[in-house]
Amino acid sequence: MDKITFIGLGNMGAPMAKNLLKAQLNVEVFDLNPSAVQELTELGATSADSLPQAVQGANVVITMLPASQHVQSVYLGEGGILDSVESGTLLIDCSTIDAETARDVSAKSHQRGYGFVDAPVSGGVAGAGAGTLTFIVGGSKDDFEQAKAILDHMGKNIFHAGEAGAGQVAKICNNMMLGILMSGTCEALNLGVENGLDPKVLSDIMLQSSGRNWALELYNPCPGVMENVPSSNGYQGGFMSQLMAKDLGLAMEAAVASQSPTPMGSLARNLFNFHNSQGNGQKDFSSLYEFYQKEK
Ligand code: NAD
Repeated sequence: MDKITFIGLGNMGAPMAKNLLKAQLNVEVFDLNPSAVQELTELGATSADSLPQAVQGANVVITMLPASQHVQSVYLGEGGILDSVESGTLLIDCSTIDAETARDVSAKSHQRGYGFVDAPVSGGVAGAGAGTLTFIVGGSKDDFEQAKAILDHMGKNIFHAGEAGAGQVAKICNNMMLGILMSGTCEALNLGVENGLDPKVLSDIMLQSSGRNWALELYNPCPGVMENVPSSNGYQGGFMSQLMAKDLGLAMEAAVASQSPTPMGSLARNLFNFHNSQGNGQKDFSSLYEFYQKEK
C-alpha cells in the first residue's frame, strides 16, 4: 500500500492524520514532540526517529507546520525532505506560509523531480477532526489531481486556486477577513454586554440579522455562549492568537508588494499584536474578546 508520511502533529495535524488512519491508509508520522507522535502510533501509525527515515519510501509527504521558517528548514534544510525522498514523491504542504516561500519550495521540488502543492486549510480544529476542512490548493493541474485524492480523506471542499503559491494568497485573504470579523464580533458582543444585554440573546439576534458571520455562528468568542468552542474552555486549543498575528502579517506583506490598501487588516493586525504582547499569544485567537473587557 502507498505510504503517506505526515509531519507536524499539532492542533491541526494530529486530527488530520487520524482521518487518514480512519480511511485505512498506511501512515507514518514525525514530530519534534514525542507525545504527539505517541498519540498517533497508539492509533496505528508507524513512526521514525528522524525526518529522513520518516520520509524514506513515502509516496506522499504531508506537512502541517507553524510558519514559513519551519517549512523552509523541513523541506530545504540539510537532511530535509528534498534531500531524503525518492523521485516521483508528491509533497503537500498544508501550513499557512508566505506565497514566496511556497513558490520557492515548489520550484526546488520540481527541479528534483517531485510534485508539490501548497494546500493551506480553513475550518479550524473542529473541521480537521470532522474531516470537513476546506483545502485551498496552488500547483499544476496534475499535482492538484493527485493531491485531491488524498485531501478528500481530510476535507469536504478542495479548491484549485491556481499555480504554485495561489493557495497561500487565497488563504491569507480569507484569514485577513477572519481576523477583521473576529475583532468586530468581540467588539460588538462586549458593547452589548456592557450595555446590559445577555451575550447569548444578543448572539441569537445578530445571527438572524445582518451582523451574522462565521465567528459569531461557529466560534462565539464570549465564554458560555456556545459549547465546544475555545471560549468555553479557557481559550485553550483552537487557533493560537500568535498564528492569527502571523497570518495578518503575511497579508500585510502581500499588501505592500501589490500596493493594495488594507486599512482594516492593518488595524486587526495591531489589535492581535497588542493582545499577544500581553501574554495571550498561545491562547485561541477568540481570546481577543478579553482585550475589550473592562473586567478581565
Ligand atoms: P501547532 O503549533 O499546534 O502545531 C505545529 C506542529 O508542528 C507541532 O506539533 C510542532 O511540534 C511541529 N513541528 C514544528 N517544527 C517541526 C519540525 N521541524 N519537525 C517536525 N515537527 C515540527 O500549529 P497548528 O495550529 O496545528 O497550525 C499548523 C498550521 O496550520 C499553521 O500554519 C496555522 O497557521 C495553520 N492553521 C491552523 C488552524 C487552527 O485552527 N489551528 C486553522 C487553519 C490553519
